[in-house]
Amino acid sequence: MPELKFDKTKCTGCKAVSCLVKCQYMNLDRNKAKKEWQKVINGEDSFVLEACTTCYACEEYCPFGNHPFYLIVERQEEKGILPAPRPIITMWINQCQPVGRFMVGKVEERALSYCFMPQFNTLVKGKLFDGIAWSVIFGQEFFCNAVYLHYARASVIKDRLFKVMDNIKKQGIKELVCLHDECYGTFTSLAPAYGVEVPFKPIHYFQYLNDKLKELKSEIKPLNAKAAYQRNCSARLCPQTDHYVDDIFGLIGVERLKREYDKENGLCCAEVFRMAKGPALADDVQKRNIDDMIKVGAEYCVFNCPACWDSLAEKVVKAGIKPIHMIDLCKLAIGEEQTLKLPELALEV
Ligand code: SF4
Ligand code: SF4
Repeated sequence: MPELKFDKTKCTGCKAVSCLVKCQYMNLDRNKAKKEWQKVINGEDSFVLEACTTCYACEEYCPFGNHPFYLIVERQEEKGILPAPRPIITMWINQCQPVGRFMVGKVEERALSYCFMPQFNTLVKGKLFDGIAWSVIFGQEFFCNAVYLHYARASVIKDRLFKVMDNIKKQGIKELVCLHDECYGTFTSLAPAYGVEVPFKPIHYFQYLNDKLKELKSEIKPLNAKAAYQRNCSARLCPQTDHYVDDIFGLIGVERLKREYDKENGLCCAEVFRMAKGPALADDVQKRNIDDMIKVGAEYCVFNCPACWDSLAEKVVKAGIKPIHMIDLCKLAIGEEQTLKLPELALEV
């Protein structure tokens, strides 16, 4: 089993302890944070391990790339702390295990990864995907497994990640466009943190869309829209891709509204901790987030992750805001239709 590359000497000299001080779910001053973090490093009991909602954000908060969240997950697993009910964890582990059944299109050296998310089958339409739409991998053999970070199961990720890399390599893929940014986060953050070699070039779909829009520049009609961007948990594993939101919006005439819960202060969809931490916290996080979108006058809520869409899109509609996935937003700008919709609310969207 690969070991987490965590350098505790970096923490010794770290005065800010941003990983815990910036945490939106714990109210810790630097002294308390330092003390509790030392306990986590030492493998001692700390309330931090129970209180963590698994929002992933401390991966971004650590200025030294020292993987504090991955360490929390390791410690939670060692101590048998369950950040979600056991049946849910077991169901996820069983349902997503690789079984040697490949779901692939006519795979080329450059391919799209749908991860394990059927929503991409609806989203991948039109000119943005000309020349690549058939070159697809999907399913548990290619599933990045990062979701187990939410379930204190680093062991499952470590066990399966080698298999996933090998399965992708076997398809002859040299460049993989990750439509779910959790996959991109896995290949560029999680795998290197565990010393797992990535035998292909991962490309974030934001970069892909940005390049494609430049090719289709003459067909873009600026949308002149104001949008709130919904930052998802896995965006914390690849914050270096956030500038593409601004780049894409700039190309298609969308204003990324400045609001309290964007960028470093973004709020995840909160569904993942609804059961473990109770509905009151999840409802509060979702309400604060959507109220913030209303406050800044958002016309659209732009989603990156289909799981955020599933959790929030209907609530966003009820707040009078149009939910749209980033891929669909780009389609609108080139005169194509939004394809991922809420069926029962489609007319209102
Ligand atoms: S994990 Fe990062 S932010 Fe936290 S104490 Fe260590 S170096 Fe500092
Ligand atoms: S993952 Fe989120 S809730 Fe957990 S310690 Fe890090 S910032 Fe706090």
